[in-house]
Formats: sequence, C-alpha cells, structure tokens
Amino acid sequence: MKILNFGSLNIDYVYSVNHFAEKGETLSSESLEVFPGGKGLNQSIALSRAGGDVYHAGVIGTDGKFLGELLCDAGVDTRYLKVSEDVRTGNAVIQKDKNGDNCIILYGGANQAVTRETADQVLKNFDEGDCLVLQNEISEIPYIVEKARERGMQIVLNPSPMNEKIFEINLDHIDCFILNEVEARILVRAARDAGKEILLKRLRKQFPHAEIILTLGEKGSVYAGTEGTAVQKAYKVKAVDTTAAGDTFTGYFMSCILQGKSVKESLDMAAKASAMAVAVKGAAPSIPKRDEAERFAE
Ligand code: ATP
Repeated sequence: MKILNFGSLNIDYVYSVNHFAEKGETLSSESLEVFPGGKGLNQSIALSRAGGDVYHAGVIGTDGKFLGELLCDAGVDTRYLKVSEDVRTGNAVIQKDKNGDNCIILYGGANQAVTRETADQVLKNFDEGDCLVLQNEISEIPYIVEKARERGMQIVLNPSPMNEKIFEINLDHIDCFILNEVEARILVRAARDAGKEILLKRLRKQFPHAEIILTLGEKGSVYAGTEGTAVQKAYKVKAVDTTAAGDTFTGYFMSCILQGKSVKESLDMAAKASAMAVAVKGAAPSIPKRDEAERFAE
C-alpha cells in the first residue's frame, strides 16, 4: 500500500532578538538560523521513518530544493514534488526573544500554488487501497479530497492549523481524523472548556464512520472508532521542544496502522516516537527512526 502525503514544505527563518520589533522600529538580530519546516514535510519524514512507503506531493520554489533532498534522505519518494520557478517556497519569519517566546509571520508561498491540474497529475497514480494524508497548509484541499475519494483512496486529515477553510472540505469523505483538543473544539463547534469526553462524543456523532484520534499533549491520546475505544498514555520525558510532536504522532500512527499493526500497537509506537521528538530540539531532525522508537524506554 502506498501512502501519499499531499502537504506543505516550509523554510523557517529564526531571528534571535532582544525584544519583538515594534511599530516603526528597525531591529538588529543577533543571529539567523534556517530550519526545514511545514507540517507536510514533518509528517512525511515521520511516515517514512516509521517504515511506510511514502510519496510526498506539494510545491516548492527553487529556494526550497534542499527540502526535497531532506525528504529523499529520509526515504520519501519525491517524484511528485513540483519545483516552481515562479514562486518562493512557503516560509516563516520567526522572531525569537530571550525568554524563548516567538512571534511568527507565515507566508504560504508555493504551498498555496497547488492547483487542480497538479492535483490531477499526482492523484492519477494512486488507487483504491492507497492512503492520502492531508494537513491544512496547502491550496485546493477540498478538490484533492473529492478526487481522492473518487479514486477510492482512504483519506486521513490532520486539520492543522485549524481555521474556517476546513469547513470547505466535504468532511464526510474523511476516514480518519487525527487532531488535538483545540482543533476538535473548533471542528465540532464545542465550548472553549469542553473536555475530551464531550469532544469524542461529538466527533463520533458528527463523523460516525470515521476513526478519531484525539491527542492530549503530555496527557497522551484517545482513540474512538470502528475498533471501539482505546486510551494511550504519553511517555514521560524531559520536554525540550514540542515542535513536531503532533506531526511525529500522526506519521507514526498512520504508518504503523497501514503496516498492519493494531490500533493499540500503533498508538503506543506513536506515543513513543512523539515523546522522543519532544525530548530533542528541532522539528524534522527530532523525529526518531523506527528502530530507535522501538528501543525507547522511559
Ligand atoms: P504540536 O502542534 O506541538 O506538534 P499537537 O498539539 O498537534 O502538537 P499534542 O497533543 O501536543 O499534538 O501531542 C501529540 C502527542 O505527542 C501526544 O499525544 C503525546 O503522545 C506526545 N507528546 C506531546 N507532548 C508531550 C510531552 N510533553 N511529553 C511526552 N509526550 C508528549
């Protein structure tokens, strides 16, 4: 079974500053660090490191070629990754202050240059039994979902970052949602203080045919779906950087399930891998390889 991740790729420019720039101020930065980013890229790396047969589709500019190389190094097939001469790679300009707080400007760039034509060219290579993984950082997602459904693909949605665009998708076509509590509250229009029981109940009612995995940060995760319910603890680690915890979890869970592991086993592997990602600085580099995740001990 092939896994197609149609998703974002970003370049993160992190500027270290004493304080965030104010109106009219020109601020010198003490350092500039450049990191690979994008939920799509992180999830492809996690899917592949967990042992999946992963194809990444998306668009980058010529400035982002190194992102494609990074995916290849992680074992991801990039034949459907388009390099456009006309647009810059999606990027984030991040001011990071001395307390570690940040202030981010996100530019969708090439991620928003995914067209229906590009989608058609990619999707014609995938069929019934193959799996499509999506987040919410590229253009034409409602169209991609329609077409993937027509081809009989299984569709997994991580509705992140969550915004009103999600409701343009025909959500009845989604076979599996992997989401955190904040995303779930918006998706089911629940109150700000709605807890996990209410959220799961509402998600099951609204999407009775879908598998639901609700992630709860350091409190673990819960599953509700065709195999009943399951609760997974988070493994105890010293949290250094939670960036990509959710992406690692999504990639590992889906990869394990698609390799025939049970829900329980897949949740456990996802919890181990994401705990390891949390214990290491950085996003993509912090995603462990399968054998490392298997050897993980608290
Ligand atoms: P992010 O947006 O930060 O990547 P998210 O909000 O999508 O993450 P979370 O629910 O925060 O997702 O985390 C996903 C999974 O990662 C959790 O279910 C848990 O297994 C693991 N995890 C997250 N934070 C921690 C932590 N502090 N310690 C151990 N495991 C963690």
